[in-house]
Amino acid sequence: MKPQFSEKIIVIDYGGQYNQLVARRVRECGVYCEIESYRTPLDVIRSGKPKGIILTGGPDSVYKEGAAGAPEELFGMGIPVLGLCYGAQLMMHVLGGRVERAPEREYGKTQVVIDMPHSPLYEGLPASMTCWMSHNDYISRPAPGFEITAHTGNCPAASLACVEKKLYAVQYHPEVLHTEYGKEILSNFVYRVCGCSGTWRMDDFAEAQIQSIREKVGNGKVLCALSGGVDSSVAAVLLSKAAGKNLTCVFVDHGLLRKGEGDLVESVFGPEGPYDLNFIRVNAQDRFYIRLAGETDPERKRKIIGEEFIRVFEEVACRIGSVDYLVQGTIYPDVVESGLGGESAVIKSHHNVGGLPEHVNFKEILEPLRDLFKDEVRKVGLHLGIPEELVMRQPFPGPGLGIRIIGDITAQKVKMVQDADAIFREEMKKAGLDRTANQFFAALTNVRSVGVMGDERTYDYAVALRSVDTVDFMTAEVTEIPYTVLKTAMTRIVNEVEHVNRVFYDITSKPPGTIEYE
Ligand code: GLN
Repeated sequence: MKPQFSEKIIVIDYGGQYNQLVARRVRECGVYCEIESYRTPLDVIRSGKPKGIILTGGPDSVYKEGAAGAPEELFGMGIPVLGLCYGAQLMMHVLGGRVERAPEREYGKTQVVIDMPHSPLYEGLPASMTCWMSHNDYISRPAPGFEITAHTGNCPAASLACVEKKLYAVQYHPEVLHTEYGKEILSNFVYRVCGCSGTWRMDDFAEAQIQSIREKVGNGKVLCALSGGVDSSVAAVLLSKAAGKNLTCVFVDHGLLRKGEGDLVESVFGPEGPYDLNFIRVNAQDRFYIRLAGETDPERKRKIIGEEFIRVFEEVACRIGSVDYLVQGTIYPDVVESGLGGESAVIKSHHNVGGLPEHVNFKEILEPLRDLFKDEVRKVGLHLGIPEELVMRQPFPGPGLGIRIIGDITAQKVKMVQDADAIFREEMKKAGLDRTANQFFAALTNVRSVGVMGDERTYDYAVALRSVDTVDFMTAEVTEIPYTVLKTAMTRIVNEVEHVNRVFYDITSKPPGTIEYE
């Protein structure tokens, strides 16, 4: 079902923390790119016919016993190779250079001086630039045939090249945004060195994908669980273009959505919306509240919500009758993080609502977004004409407000957090902060305290407001919201939301905090 991409780069993953970024940056340059583990046999890499190969950073030291390696042949296939950090050290090590523990480790932004401005990697770039360094080892002797193309104060060989063999090694991390011209360097590699022409475009991808799904699915029946999140929405629209009325979308409203969200989803995917599909909305709020009653443990809550979601979905699916394909909104980071591509450990079990229903018979799972990063999914969504409001929305956990209510969940608490959240959003928008803050919301703490309102004693709940600025959601800083905005939000929340008498603003960064509370 995967459309054929005429050119691709393969990123070989040595376990570095930025491995996904490398692939993302290459794709941002307009070239398709896949991540493979360094354990993948060379034949498999070669048969992928990559236009170029990039070796990532990694925690090992090349000179240590059992360190992640590479066959010498990798560098002799005539395919251009770029090694980054560990990848650079490995290239030198394998080809006869020397790598050892550096007298001084380099970490953070570092000035790199270019010694060979005409090296293809540096074409069009200034003679000196800020780069991101993160290494303990260094290349103390280049492999034969390599020239040093840049250095830093501590690092005599910050980059090397063997232009004739199209082999390049850089000690810094071009994939990280702190590296000033990182994107240009990667772009020089894929265009000038590998000779790519830049065929990876999201509108082409969408059209090719629709075509190939149409051929595959034919007249089969397709079923999709719609959460209203970005991934499942985009997957649903892709499928609707390919399968039309053979697609049924089941939207389970678990009663833990943000205020007005269920109706938004219905307005887009329901009979009034622009898409030609069968839409079934199940209002299952009560079922979820009953199952969740009295449960305070976050993991248990997540589990109950996930399980109940599948039960409801299955019941509806059984009524529909036979199904041939089941659609999942899996995206590339899910694939990589669950250990299926690349070298990373399993980082999280998916906090998306779902999993696989056991009691629905289907032939096959369709995952039309499996190769895409989030920003690419969004581009596909916009290309397909899905409203920006849906496509650009902030991350929202699968268990929804269920994990933004600390402690047990009741219908009344859901209403409180929904109302407080809607007010906070409105005020953030009025202040123009919705365009800069990356994720913000209200949560309901289980703190109750004494207050006074209209001369009467109250004993009510505290709402926590949270807003973070982040690029990748892996780390985050608190948004510096002006006091006036916070005060307006506070006043409105205590006035308009019943049973709330205090408002906190959470100033914790991630780490040590997480963005969500449970
Ligand atoms: N482990 C190697 C070093 O410390 C490479 C580090 C990296 O790839 N970031 O030098």
